[in-house]
Amino acid sequence: MSLAERPVTDLKGVGTALSLKLERLGIHKLQDLLFHLPMRYQDRTRIVPIGALRPGDECVVCGEVKAADVVQGRRRSLLCRIQDGTGTLTLRFFHFSAAQKNGLKPGSRIRCFGEARPGPAGLEMVHPEYRQQRDSGLEPVADTLTPIYPATEGLQQTRLRTLCQQALEELNGDNLAELLPQEMRDRWQLWSLADSLRYLHNPPVDADQHLLLEGMHPAQRRLAFEELLAHNLALQQIRHKTQQQGAPSLPPQHRLIPAFLEQLPFPLTGAQQRVSQEVARDLAQSYPMLRLVQGDVGSGKTVVAALAALQAVENGLQAAVMAPTEILAEQHFNNFSQWLEPLGLEVAWLAGKLKGKTRAAQLAKIADGSAKVVVGTHALFQDEVLFHDLGLVVVDEQHRFGVHQRLSLREKGRNGHLAPHQLIMTATPIPRTLTMSAYADLDCSIIDELPPGRTPVNTVVIADSRRDQVIGRVRSACAEGRQVYWVCTLIEESEALQCQAAEVTCETLREQLPELRIGLVHGRMKPAEKAAVMASFKAAELDLLVATTVIEVGVDVPNASVMIIENPERLGLAQLHQLRGRVGRGSVESFCVLMYQAPLSNQGRERLAVMRETTDGFKIAEKDLQLRGPGEVLGTRQTGMMQFRIADLQRDGDLLTRVRQLAGQMHGYPQQSAQLVRRWLGQGEEYGNV
Ligand code: ADP
Ligand code: MG
Repeated sequence: MSLAERPVTDLKGVGTALSLKLERLGIHKLQDLLFHLPMRYQDRTRIVPIGALRPGDECVVCGEVKAADVVQGRRRSLLCRIQDGTGTLTLRFFHFSAAQKNGLKPGSRIRCFGEARPGPAGLEMVHPEYRQQRDSGLEPVADTLTPIYPATEGLQQTRLRTLCQQALEELNGDNLAELLPQEMRDRWQLWSLADSLRYLHNPPVDADQHLLLEGMHPAQRRLAFEELLAHNLALQQIRHKTQQQGAPSLPPQHRLIPAFLEQLPFPLTGAQQRVSQEVARDLAQSYPMLRLVQGDVGSGKTVVAALAALQAVENGLQAAVMAPTEILAEQHFNNFSQWLEPLGLEVAWLAGKLKGKTRAAQLAKIADGSAKVVVGTHALFQDEVLFHDLGLVVVDEQHRFGVHQRLSLREKGRNGHLAPHQLIMTATPIPRTLTMSAYADLDCSIIDELPPGRTPVNTVVIADSRRDQVIGRVRSACAEGRQVYWVCTLIEESEALQCQAAEVTCETLREQLPELRIGLVHGRMKPAEKAAVMASFKAAELDLLVATTVIEVGVDVPNASVMIIENPERLGLAQLHQLRGRVGRGSVESFCVLMYQAPLSNQGRERLAVMRETTDGFKIAEKDLQLRGPGEVLGTRQTGMMQFRIADLQRDGDLLTRVRQLAGQMHGYPQQSAQLVRRWLGQGEEYGNV
C-alpha cells in the first residue's frame, strides 16, 4: 500500500496517544513523516578532542572523570570535570540526583554531547547528554548527521527520529512514486524523490550543513520544486476546467466604445490603451478570459473596466462589476452611471443592505436584462440574483477576494453551459513570485503608468508627540482650500473598538480645529450614512474626513491632498500604500504624514522608511513580502492556498520560472499531474469543484 495511505499507527509503538501528538504536527500518514523535514542537524559522527573545542560547538566529547562536586554558588550545582589528554572540560548540572553524582566516579570514562560555552573556569557544557563508557571508546558514534525535527509538546526528538527512520525503511520505489518525469530531472539535474528524502533524514558526515540550514541543498530544493509544481498544476487545472466551459465570444463592435471615449474628459494613457487591447482580444475568444489587471492606485483601472463592460454590452450581454465594500461599489455605480447613461444604458445597483421593493426592482432589471451593467458588492453573487445573460464579471480590488471567492464567482456567473469572462483588478501590486504562484491561473496585465499631471506624494514620518505640529499642518492646508484625510487605526481586530477610537479622535479634532468642517466615516455606520458623508467630502462640503481604514481602497477625491495616518506601524506596507494613494490625485503637491507611536521597533522603523523612500507600489510590495511573508501580503483569506510544507516563496522564488515551464509540459503526464496535486494539496477540497 502507498505510504500516502498508510496511517502512522501502522508503525511499531504508535497508538492513539502518540498519533494525536503527531497530528498536531500535521502528520497522519507515513508519507507525512517523510515530508516532515529536519530544521537542523547535529554532528554526532565524531568525537572531538576537548582541546579543539571552541565556544558554540555542539559535539561529542569523551573523557575521564577527574572530579564531581556539588558547589554552592548563586545556584547549587553539580560540577564534573573531565579530561581527555588534550584538555579539560566542565560539565554543569543544576538539576541532579544523588545517584547521578555518585555515578560520576573519578576514574570512570563518559561520553557526552552538548554545546561548549565559556564558563568561569574555561569551557563548560550545561546539562549535556552523557553516558558511561564501558569499553574505552570502542562504542560506535553516529554514522550520519543527527536530524532535529520540528517537535511538539510531549514528543521527544528521539521518538520522532525513530519514527522517521521506520518510515524511511518502508520507503521503496513503489509506495512513494517518483512523479517528476525522468527527462526533466535529467535536464535540470533534479535529485530523485527517494534520494532526497533519504539524504535529508540521514545526511552523510560530509554534508554541507550550512547549505542544509539555509534550505538550499539540492535535496531540499528538489522537494520545494515538486511542491511548487503541485500548486501550480492545481491552479492550471482550475484554469483548464474553466476554459473548457467555453464563453460567449465578444468581439469589439465599435458602437458604444468610440462614443464613450469621445465623452471622456481625458485621453487614455498608453498603458490603459495597451491593457484595454489585451482585454479586448481576450473577450473575443470563445473561452473565458481569466485576466488579472494590476495597476497602482490612481492608475485609472476603472476606465479599463468600463471599456470591457461596454464590449460585453455591445454584444448584447450583461456585465457585472463587483467591489469589496459598499462605499467602493457605490463610487463605481456613480462613475458607471455617469459614463453609461448618456449612451442610453441602464446601470443597476445591488448591495447586501438594499432591501424590500428597491431590491426587488433591481433584481427584476437584472433578470430581464434591461440593466446592462450591474454594480455591487459580493451580494451580486447570492443565489437569488439571476442574470439575464451575463458575459463579463469584473472584480475590483482583487486582493480582498481569496482564491475561494474567485472560484465561486466562476461558478455563480455561469449561464447555461457558457461561463462569463473574468477581469480581476488589483491596486496592490503583486510581487512576481506571487503572481507566478498564487495567481498562476490568471493571465496578467500591468498598467505601469499614471495619468499625466500627478505630483508624487511627500511622505513624512513623525512621532505622535508632535501631534500639535501635525494639527497645525492640517489647519493651514484646509485654509488653502485643500481637503484632508485623518485615518485612525487600532491593533484590535474589533471593528467596534476601531470605530469608537475614530469617534473619539473626531471629537478631539473638532475641539482643536473648531473652524473646520469635520466629518466621520467608519465601518459601523449605515451604508446610507457612509455614502452621505463620502458624498459631502467629495463635494468639498467637508474639510477634514476622519475615518477608519474603510477608506482604504479606491475612493477618489482629487482635491484631497493631505493624508494623516495614525499608528501606521500597525498596518502592512501594501495597506499604507493604498491609503496614501488617496492623495496625490490632483495637481497640487500632496502630503502623507505617518504619525507613529514611539518607540518604534526596528522592523517598524524599516517599514516606515520604505514608505518615505518610494512611491513605487511594486517595490513596496516586494518589501512587504520580504518583511511579512506571503500570507500577510495576500491577506488572510488567501493564505490557505499558499501554505507550503517545504517551499518558501522568498527562498525558492527563483524556481518558479522552471516550475511554470514544467507545469506547461505536464499535460503529457496527466496521471503524474493528478498524483502530484493529490500528494501536496490533498483531495483538493481547497479548490472546490469547478
Ligand atoms: P484606480 O486605478 O485607483 O482605480 P481610478 O480609475 O479611480 O484609479 O482613476 C483615478 C483618477 O484618475 C480618476 O479621477 C479618473 O477619472 C482619473 N483618470 C483615469 N484615467 C485617466 C487618464 N487617462 N487621464 C487623466 N485622468 C485619468
Ligand atoms: Mg479603483
